[in-house]
Amino acid sequence: MKVTEHINNANGKTQFSFEILPPLKGQNVQSIFDNIDPLMEFKPPFIDVTYHREEYVYQEQENGLLKKKVVKKRPGTVGICAAIQNKYHLDAIPHILCGGFTKEDTENFLIDLDFLGINNVMALRGDAVKTETYFRPEKEGHNYASDLVSQISELNKGTYLDEELLNTSATNFCVGVAAYPEKHMEAPSLDSDIKFLKKKIINGAEYIVTQMFFDNKKYFDFVQKCRKEGITVPIIPGLKPIATKKQLNLIPHRFHVDLPEELILEVVKCKDNDQVKKLGIEWCIQQSRELQKAGIPVLHYYSMGKSDNIKAIASQVF
Ligand SMILES: Cc1cc2nc3c(=O)[nH]c(=O)nc-3n(C[C@H](O)[C@H](O)[C@H](O)COP(=O)(O)OP(=O)(O)OC[C@H]3O[C@@H](n4cnc5c(N)ncnc54)[C@H](O)[C@@H]3O)c2cc1C
Repeated sequence: MKVTEHINNANGKTQFSFEILPPLKGQNVQSIFDNIDPLMEFKPPFIDVTYHREEYVYQEQENGLLKKKVVKKRPGTVGICAAIQNKYHLDAIPHILCGGFTKEDTENFLIDLDFLGINNVMALRGDAVKTETYFRPEKEGHNYASDLVSQISELNKGTYLDEELLNTSATNFCVGVAAYPEKHMEAPSLDSDIKFLKKKIINGAEYIVTQMFFDNKKYFDFVQKCRKEGITVPIIPGLKPIATKKQLNLIPHRFHVDLPEELILEVVKCKDNDQVKKLGIEWCIQQSRELQKAGIPVLHYYSMGKSDNIKAIASQVF
């Protein structure tokens, strides 16, 4: 089923969903199931699986010169989605990127998803590769997520890259896109970022998932701005419980979001990470309850491969 159908069928009840990462290369799929199993009692209608593009690693050789090696640390997004759909009979949503994909790669990836009975896809640009400052698309790839959304919409009409193909079968993807209540790091302003978010919707995206935020006001203000701009699709909030002291610096650095002063002061007071974890769970429960009370259709949790704190939150909220 499509995400939009899950939302429509819920009759206003707030639903639980979460995101997982494929395991590091070398680990098996059981590690994923072990994290999903404890969360199944909260009946997620869908689970997102992130996509991780290749990275460049530079290894020093005996002669002192550096050798560039291309590594993909977390392959398996499509395989895990298929395994999840098979095992749990719910919708798995693969993420797909512009980065590292030519249009041809994108089309072939989408054909695989279609054959597997995967009806939803989260379309993203992806970040610059770690050793570069700016995002660089493939030669025959897309610059922005809005262009990727257009390609998926074309395939949904049965239009493939090779215009000579006859009697083509149309796909039926429901497309989600990302948004940033605190602005995407490269956007010159929030207004400009929302303008481009609207382009993704015009090009065919049917729902939005936000970057994590720790102050609900940021989300509510953002939704209001989007509605004013004529964006009417569901805007699903992304939530992450803070779990370690280190994250006070890591989260703003990695995700370009602010932490509320009150939360920072409480984390600083914690004696160890066990206390931080408890505090993070409590903070996220409060955020979740307020969002639920406001009638938000789905709360989406960034599990980062660990289910215990998400289970602690869900058991108090759902
Ligand atoms: C919910 C969610 C899930 C994610 N999952 C993954 C994942 O699985 N794998 C991964 O690698 N990354 C993931 N990311 C991170 C994401 O790839 C990065 O944040 C990336 O830098 C931007 O992706 P986007 O799809 O938002 O890009 P876009 O929508 O293309 O926007 C990127 C930037 O360009 C600007 N822009 C957009 N269109 C135009 C235009 N036409 N002209 C000029 N400027 C424009 C925007 O304002 C923005 O600043 C995720 C992020 C979120 C919020």
